[in-house]
Amino acid sequence: MNRNLYDLLGLVAAVCFIMALKGLSSPKSARRGNIIGAVGATIGTVLVFWAPGSSHKHLVLILAAIAFGVLVGVPAARRIQMTQMPQLVALFNGVGGGAAALVATVEYLKLGNEATTGEILATVFTVIVGCISFSGSIITFMKLQELMTTRPVVFPGGRFVIAATLAGVLGTAGWVINSGGTSPLLIMGALALAFGVLFVLPVGGADVPIVISLLNAFTGLTVAASGYVLQATLLIVAGTLVGASGTILTRLMAAAMGRSLFGTLFGAFTAKPQESTGAAEARPVKSGSADDVAILLNYAQRVVIVPGFGLAVAQAQHTVRELADLLTSKGIDVAYGIHPVAGRMPGHMNVLLAEANVPYEQLVEMEEVNPTFPQTDVVLVVGANDVVNPAAKTTPGCPIYGMPILDVAQAGNVIFLKRSMRPGFAGIENELLYDAKTTLLFGDAKETLTKVVSSLKAL
Ligand code: NDP
Repeated sequence: MNRNLYDLLGLVAAVCFIMALKGLSSPKSARRGNIIGAVGATIGTVLVFWAPGSSHKHLVLILAAIAFGVLVGVPAARRIQMTQMPQLVALFNGVGGGAAALVATVEYLKLGNEATTGEILATVFTVIVGCISFSGSIITFMKLQELMTTRPVVFPGGRFVIAATLAGVLGTAGWVINSGGTSPLLIMGALALAFGVLFVLPVGGADVPIVISLLNAFTGLTVAASGYVLQATLLIVAGTLVGASGTILTRLMAAAMGRSLFGTLFGAFTAKPQESTGAAEARPVKSGSADDVAILLNYAQRVVIVPGFGLAVAQAQHTVRELADLLTSKGIDVAYGIHPVAGRMPGHMNVLLAEANVPYEQLVEMEEVNPTFPQTDVVLVVGANDVVNPAAKTTPGCPIYGMPILDVAQAGNVIFLKRSMRPGFAGIENELLYDAKTTLLFGDAKETLTKVVSSLKAL
């Protein structure tokens, strides 16, 4: 292909990526943004085959690899539940980082002694960060998929092991830069893989999505650096965009949880061990029936619904809207209290409730809804836990300490809709469940809400 046309199409793809990010910044334009991004990625992929001077020596292998990726990726992306999206992102992201590290290694071996200092530095960076991103993402995937404990994994001397591994990575990096060669590069890669695992193990379940976003930013930078090695401008542009947007998202998520990024990553080493009462099931709680809840709601003047991850699991957004509409038709003031990190992704609850056409003006952000709780008769907590857990304010050293919460304990009555006494994502008990003003309605949120709606209609 003519160089000018090739560059022009590359520019079109890069503009598509930028427009995609713009589109993704609002729920209204997100679908369009996604499509534009996919168009840019398709142009970028197809362009590879027409790169000036490229040979088609391994065409069959490349097409076979693409076919394999499509066969695995498309069904996985289609089948995955929205609540499992962070795991999928983690997995795809890790594979991206690993691939960039492999590509840079192959390119480095091909260049041999002819590699320039710039290319060697870019290779070292790509292999280190790509390997960290790969192994770290696998651990985040396993944590979120509950294939391993979601609690922080810390062991005696853990900090020193992490520091020593990092020193090893940096030391071998110096070795590669000074003397080159395959063995130092492979040792460096292996140490970086180990560092990725050690770096993510101490992160507690509630903070894992933040680390996914951080690793995603790492992968972006890895791809940008591999673009330098491969002299592929589009990779540099796309990688930098992912790196920058991932960094912004990571900072926003950490801020929404009221903690620094350093505290998120290494807080477990300074946290006091949590004393488990070991008697979660044994302590008395007040549970009620759908009829009890309907009566409480029927006589309320103001009700705040607090949605959380469980609402997404139960897919109860339409039923919760039906309940809210019913209460409104009875003259009851109804609002939804939205915590910025309720669910598993930023904006998760907004997207979920928008799906059920909940009027936007009923969604009240945390800062605005908190002062209204003392005047609220009933708070209906639908599948939320950590975002209303007072431990965030009262228990220094607990995994969510410092995270701003929805102050539902200030309301007259609190009703929790959940299936069991299991804790939320952070894995810590919620004292509010045992409070005298709390009623628990056990069961899948969609089923219990449906029963509450029927009971309310009968009143
Ligand atoms: P939690 O994970 O704390 O609690 C979810 C609750 O839903 C659990 O108590 C669970 O109890 C209940 N539940 C699950 N399935 C159902 C169901 N089918 N029906 C009824 N209840 C159900 O969720 P929150 O939204 O309160 O908190 C979000 C957590 O995610 C926080 O720790 C936050 O820090 C973290 N996080 C969120 C991010 C984001 O961007 N949104 C980013 C980073 C972290 P049971 O099993 O008994 O039913």
